[in-house]
Amino acid sequence: MQNTYLLTKRGQGMTLKEFQENIRVLFGERDERRGISKSFNHFVEEVGELSQALRKKKLSDCENEFADVLAWLMTMANLADVDVEKAVLRYVGKCPSCKDNPCRCPEGEGFFDR
Ligand SMILES: [Mg+2]
Ligand SMILES: [Zn+2]
Repeated sequence: MQNTYLLTKRGQGMTLKEFQENIRVLFGERDERRGISKSFNHFVEEVGELSQALRKKKLSDCENEFADVLAWLMTMANLADVDVEKAVLRYVGKCPSCKDNPCRCPEGEGFFDR
């Protein structure tokens, strides 16, 4: 049943909620055994690998590391009982800080400066 789900979804459109559930099906049991603290270390390690891939500017490496970071982020959300699709709504259609679209937060000031 679970394998059928993964096979039918592979390469097709997938919601963020479905991706988070996919990670839970794939890794949920061992994620629970490992726990939040050790899992967070893995997540940070993957962020470091993404940093290196971005420096090298090799597309296939970047794709792999974006996938690793997103997968470990889903693991963290599963362990913290956070529904990521629901959580990210605060970024949909407006800046969560200034509420404008596009963002009009002053540059060079504060958390949302990019
Ligand atoms: Mg990696
Ligand atoms: Zn803003």
